Amino acid sequence: MAAFLLIWAFVLACFASAQPAPPPAGWRYWIDPDCVTHDADFESYPLEVFYLARSAYKRLKDPADTDFKRIFWVLFKTKFDDATLYDYPTDYTAVYGPKKGTAYDIALDALNHLATQWSNTTNRAEATVRIHCDNQERFQSYNGLNNDVVWDTLDQRTIYSPGGIPACQRINGLVAQVTRGAPHEFGDKPWCTMDFCNAIWTTLEKLDGIINNGQSPAYRPRRLDKVQHLTAKQENVDFRVVSMQGIGYAIYPAYVLMHEMFHTPPYFMMDYFDVMPNSATGGWEYALRLTTAQALTCAETYEYPHGGFTFDRRWEQQPDDLKWTATQIPDPQMTNGVYYNPIVFGALHSYGDITGEKNRRDYEWNP
Ligand SMILES: [Zn+2]
Repeated sequence: MAAFLLIWAFVLACFASAQPAPPPAGWRYWIDPDCVTHDADFESYPLEVFYLARSAYKRLKDPADTDFKRIFWVLFKTKFDDATLYDYPTDYTAVYGPKKGTAYDIALDALNHLATQWSNTTNRAEATVRIHCDNQERFQSYNGLNNDVVWDTLDQRTIYSPGGIPACQRINGLVAQVTRGAPHEFGDKPWCTMDFCNAIWTTLEKLDGIINNGQSPAYRPRRLDKVQHLTAKQENVDFRVVSMQGIGYAIYPAYVLMHEMFHTPPYFMMDYFDVMPNSATGGWEYALRLTTAQALTCAETYEYPHGGFTFDRRWEQQPDDLKWTATQIPDPQMTNGVYYNPIVFGALHSYGDITGEKNRRDYEWNP
């Protein structure tokens, strides 16, 4: 089982006290042409991410879409109508002031913002998120007093990086990283850089082989001009013996990008490094191990509640007092060389709405 390391780093760890104020509207991202050189589809990935966030938001907001509530419970380990107040991410409050919300509010707030507030720009300087694919070649060693930093030749800043080696080049298997400064440096619109390391291109090549061998029902990343769903044949696949990564659920560049976007302002979601061995912060198993408070403030969680998938349709048919009695989610198990994920105890479907009252096209891309 390959472990996908999706990490980010602080440049500075000190925060100024902040006045409470909501994030402003209108956020921009910039894509370096290097990324399109690596992958001709790259510019479609942010649009895919916004589509996924929009689908999830619509489905979670829809009172008729009871089926999708299962995803909320699995990922956040609480009912969607849990009235407990949870903290927003620590770094969010450092910029926008202390804030609490219900699990439902925190999750929907983040998804709604990602779904609606972003647009592309060719002006790097005005972009909140600046996406690079140069394997951090723009970073140079820093001949200063501190050996654990690199010099960013583009943004003219030092970045913490042990050994003076850029993370993309230092950490085997690292696929992406968000790097930003201390929030107070940048006013109400802090910016950051995002790096897609070379490892992601290698990883995708390998997994494409699995997909093409017909060993998994995964399909190639969706194109916006032809939104794909699992075929009728694939809907009959029993996902109990298929790992989420085997499905290809966590390895598309769009999903990696979605994880990284939730690290950026204004979400400031976290990675929790003590949850899995080797400090891995990606993958379905990782997401399942998070507590409610962690899951609500973790970038990886938000990679999963997007539209188009639903877990265990039979769950809706269970007596209500049995739906919520599970106190913990079992760990996925490897049995006889087969990855067995007991949480997916029904089939996994591409399905718009269990009630059948919604037109599936409601959840498709409609620019
Ligand atoms: Zn991360």
